[in-house]
Amino acid sequence: MTFRQARWDEPPIWDIGRASDEAAPVIPGLPERWHRKSPLQWPELSELEVLRHYTRLSQMNFGIETMTYPLGSCTMKYNPKISERLARLPTAAELHPNQPEETVQGALEIFWRLERALSKVTGFPEISLQPAAGAHGEYAALLMARAYFHDRGELETRTEVLLPDTAHGTNPASAMMAGFTAHEIRSRDGCVDVDALRAALSERTAAFMLTNPNTAGLFETEIPAITEAVHAAGGIVYYDGANLNAILGVTNPGRMGFDVAHLNLHKTFATPHGGGGPGAGVLACGDKLAPYLPVPRIAKRGRRFALDYDRPKSIGKIKSGYGNFGLDLRAYAFLLAHGEEGLRHISRRAVLNANYAAHKLGRHLPRPFRPLVKHEFLLSGAPLRQRGLRTLDLAKRLLDEGVHAPTVYFPSLVEEALMIELPETESRRDVDAFIAAVERSLADTDANLKTAPHNLAVGRVDEVRAARELLLSWRDLRSPGANLETPTPPATGP
Ligand SMILES: *Cc1c(COP(=O)(O)O)cnc(C)c1O
Repeated sequence: MTFRQARWDEPPIWDIGRASDEAAPVIPGLPERWHRKSPLQWPELSELEVLRHYTRLSQMNFGIETMTYPLGSCTMKYNPKISERLARLPTAAELHPNQPEETVQGALEIFWRLERALSKVTGFPEISLQPAAGAHGEYAALLMARAYFHDRGELETRTEVLLPDTAHGTNPASAMMAGFTAHEIRSRDGCVDVDALRAALSERTAAFMLTNPNTAGLFETEIPAITEAVHAAGGIVYYDGANLNAILGVTNPGRMGFDVAHLNLHKTFATPHGGGGPGAGVLACGDKLAPYLPVPRIAKRGRRFALDYDRPKSIGKIKSGYGNFGLDLRAYAFLLAHGEEGLRHISRRAVLNANYAAHKLGRHLPRPFRPLVKHEFLLSGAPLRQRGLRTLDLAKRLLDEGVHAPTVYFPSLVEEALMIELPETESRRDVDAFIAAVERSLADTDANLKTAPHNLAVGRVDEVRAARELLLSWRDLRSPGANLETPTPPATGP
């Protein structure tokens, strides 16, 4: 299969249509002082012109609906159309977050039912759908840990969050934002070194954050010893469950002895990643931290549903509204469509895809860790150095094959890392095609690899120059003397 991406010289929509002088519409009931005085200056275009503009832009983009997207740690799975249809129903899409409770009983019931379903998935009794991303969930959970230690009079002493060297970048960032210091624990053979963890635990430990299966695609081998040691030191054990694709319906963080977890509905539960738009980083916890969950909580009173703000120990509100309803509805539809047995099947398929591809590609590039992987696996591009090449060159060359690049240079403990995830929505044909694309890329000439991509709307960018001479808008690019080459989208990465 040959791939040639469309190459439109498409200007911004503002430069296609003439700016209109139309006055802004007056919104009935809006106080006079908030009325817009200047014209809107929206570009005047026909429906067809708008449609062509966005269709052309989409043809210069990569997406799950046109190509395999093996971005490790990001779980780029297909978003089923049935979920999209449900979320677009006027009864769902046209709700207002501030509508009186008695007019949104159905939506509240869906929140409640999703919470119950996710309680089963995680093994934790209490759920909050409020956080808008995985990182937001981490941050909220660490604020809950603060409130917990405050109640115990230990806030002054418990200042440290520990995490393994395979942790996702958001973990230390969330710890710092929540007012803790972050300390790395080294791994041994890709898993937490329990002796190193024990040596770092103290009365200063607030929490240990663990991703499982971890970012090396391995199921941590010492979980009982880890939770026991952290609890003995008085700390909270946090489960980063952004990627639950390998354990759905098989095991869960509640059963493993953790105190709190976050899940990414926009990864495991097939809701859109949203291009920086809405996500959903659900929180799940046991009784220890439940009083501190953000308000509101969904309460079921007889047959009525309500938003409950009467939680005196809560860390408070962490975003407007409750959850991202459109995403929650999609995730609920996904859970209903698959059921418990279906979820187990998803896990088995994702794990099979990863192991199959790891086995085949392990013939070409070294695999840093040998044990059976879960939903994703690591390769090292270090041998490419003998050809004067890097992992980045392989990632760029893969784009020419019509597949998105894998995650690269993460986790940092693997030299020239490639992190590959092929979720259950990729068929055997897709996985074989991906393997063949990697093989063709590796067999290509050094010169071609170094200068790839060649078949895309934009070519390889001079990254040093791009960083030094930052141009942040289209207008900057078109000003006299500016470089007209547009930057390549970044190869990947969490
Ligand atoms: C994606 C991811 C996160 C962060 O989730 P966002 O929704 O992007 O904030 C955290 N941890 C892991 C392991 C992840 O893969």
